[in-house]
Amino acid sequence: MRVLVVEDEKKTASFVRKALQAEGFAADVCHNGDDALAAAKATPFDVIVLDIMLPGRDGLGVLKQLRERKNSTPVLLLSARGEVNERVEGLNAGADDYLPKPFELSELVARVRALTRRNGENKSTILRVADLTLDTVAHYAQRGGKKIELTSREYRLLEFLMRSAGRLCGRMMILEKVWDYNFDPGTNLVDVYVRRLREKIDADFEIKLLHTVRGSGYVLKEQP
Ligand code: CA
Repeated sequence: MRVLVVEDEKKTASFVRKALQAEGFAADVCHNGDDALAAAKATPFDVIVLDIMLPGRDGLGVLKQLRERKNSTPVLLLSARGEVNERVEGLNAGADDYLPKPFELSELVARVRALTRRNGENKSTILRVADLTLDTVAHYAQRGGKKIELTSREYRLLEFLMRSAGRLCGRMMILEKVWDYNFDPGTNLVDVYVRRLREKIDADFEIKLLHTVRGSGYVLKEQP
């Protein structure tokens, strides 16, 4: 198990590395965001421990860049402030867990270990809801054995809905995740795309998977 620790405070980085090594992990350290992105590109890590406060490109910027590059390594974000907004922003940007500073090293190690386990369970590249599948490598969907062509935006929308299967996805959350908007553009963009997606994944099938939750958003699930 190989962990990348991204933290500019050298003392903290060193403590974290030693704690991980003591628990049997291999640990590499980077002191800034650009080095971290280069390291993540060169080496497959099992978990990335990523401090938000970094010189230059900050941790959230690194995280967004990783996810844009389709790097799905689990990320544990560290923050000095523990602000709710930062936590929400981090989780929305694709972080898997969050730990406010100051933290106990034992807690950090426990969270890293939990993330390695979670990653092991989710190694499949195929997402599935009922008879709808999405190949996250080849970027295409299938339902009932029939291949469904998707535009790149439709793909991103469907991937997000499938990863959140069974959970309500609000319009604002969808705008953030699929369009990278942090504001409400005041259009019915989401509804338009959901309608297009429905045409492709639900129209020809008796059992509908993409449901509207009136006034709130959408949920993808087998049962209404
Ligand atoms: Ca820092």
